[in-house]
Amino acid sequence: MSNAETPVARDLFIGGSYRSAASGKRFETRDPATGELLAEVAEAGFEDLDAAVKAARTAVEGGPWAQMTPRQRGKVLFRAADLLMSRVDEFARIETRDNGKPIFESAKIDMPACAEALAYFGGYADKVYGRTLPSGTGSFLFTLREPVGVVGAITPWNFPLLQAMWKIAPALACGNAVILKPASLTPLTALLFAELLSQAGLPPGAFNVVPGPGEVIGQAMAEHPGIDKITFTGETETGKKILRAAAGTVKRVSMELGGKSPNIVFADADLEAAARGAFNGIFYGKGEVCAAGSRLLVEKSVHEALMEKLVERAKKAVPADPLDPKTRLGSLVSEKQRDTVSKYVERGVTEGARLVAGGHKRDVGGKGAFFEATVFDGVSPDMEIAREEIFGPVLATLEFGSVDEAISLGNRVRYGLAAAVWTRDIKKALRVAREIQAGTVWVNTYNFYDPGLPFGGYKQSGFGRERGEEAMHEYTQVKSVWTDLG
Ligand code: NAD
Repeated sequence: MSNAETPVARDLFIGGSYRSAASGKRFETRDPATGELLAEVAEAGFEDLDAAVKAARTAVEGGPWAQMTPRQRGKVLFRAADLLMSRVDEFARIETRDNGKPIFESAKIDMPACAEALAYFGGYADKVYGRTLPSGTGSFLFTLREPVGVVGAITPWNFPLLQAMWKIAPALACGNAVILKPASLTPLTALLFAELLSQAGLPPGAFNVVPGPGEVIGQAMAEHPGIDKITFTGETETGKKILRAAAGTVKRVSMELGGKSPNIVFADADLEAAARGAFNGIFYGKGEVCAAGSRLLVEKSVHEALMEKLVERAKKAVPADPLDPKTRLGSLVSEKQRDTVSKYVERGVTEGARLVAGGHKRDVGGKGAFFEATVFDGVSPDMEIAREEIFGPVLATLEFGSVDEAISLGNRVRYGLAAAVWTRDIKKALRVAREIQAGTVWVNTYNFYDPGLPFGGYKQSGFGRERGEEAMHEYTQVKSVWTDLG
């Protein structure tokens, strides 16, 4: 989509080239900020999926990808990182138009983080070590870490290319082939990235993209006997369906699911920093962030002071044109998502929470799926807005009186993706970090990520880890070799 203003046809990417779907079917993707048609995208069916599986299997079973050395594979990823950064403006603009997120986020955060992931895992490609085991002189025992084979990646729409990259980069670094099914609302950057990977030297079949409806093509991937592993990011309920579908072939699975993360502010915190952190924790990425700090837990004695600072910020955060570099709150991903968010807000009001900022749909120039930065106060733990993932710019604020109460409130939901604690007391910070049931805990900050730091869920936020060395374990399997020297 070199000219993002003109609707284009986008095809599936299978075996190193673009092609239309065998059925000829296409679906539309639109800019949620304007309603404009961006592209008509080929919709993969079973025949196309079979073709992608065949191409991927060939790539890992004796094809040119399988024959490359680990270091050569790493170099492909390094080149891809450089190529992506050389086209950062083009990719960022497409991402913003497809998703509605501010161009500031796409260009300054998402795309650089994609390139970082490629470079980080490129560096790992020749460092996937096995182990030698102590044994007697009559034998030699060692392990090999081998690729799992063909990886099916199913991704959501909130960070379209970045969520995919945290799967693609480690999977390719370990020598697997990847079949990616991006979310139907945001398939464009993944499709464009396929060509970029080829330019970086990735052989045909090692990366394939098959957009299509999750219940059809996603489900078929989970069931397909030619796919060895499913790596999924999305809703917890979708994750359960995939687990059931994958059971038939005893497929490996990893699950990055939803969250309802507590952002815990103690009275001894730097309140200015905590207010900023509470704001960014929920409104960055329009709140369509799995790790969003959507539950603000505040110690009673500073509740009023903190809320004053936070509400003032929230009221100033007016949704605006996502393509304006100054915009920090863009359009939600779709009208449907905005309706969902709106219903949760109505529910919060009905249940008796106090709406202290935002709460309404907005438009920019008469268009778009915008929603105000919304803050609820006086929320009690049993209200829906305190328990369910809203996936929008809506914060639920609760009060606590002691460290024990903060921890117990923090752990009260079925999710366990992330949490944060704000305090100047290191002992308190570390106690909370240990006792909160979450895969990531931030201390005096929020929403920071590093390709080397593992990320994933406790409880119903999933299992398996993305990033860091742990990610390499998700895409390899261990072979033990016993050699008799007697
Ligand atoms: P979703 O579960 O609706 O869709 C995710 C992907 O799964 C899409 O590609 C979709 O087409 C596909 N899918 C849908 N039904 C399927 C089925 N039956 N079988 C196979 N695939 C299917 O999620 P979403 O609305 O795109 O994204 C929002 C959700 O993702 C939120 O719950 C959010 O918390 C979660 N999320 C989690 C993380 C994380 O790292 N833990 C990151 C981002 C988003």
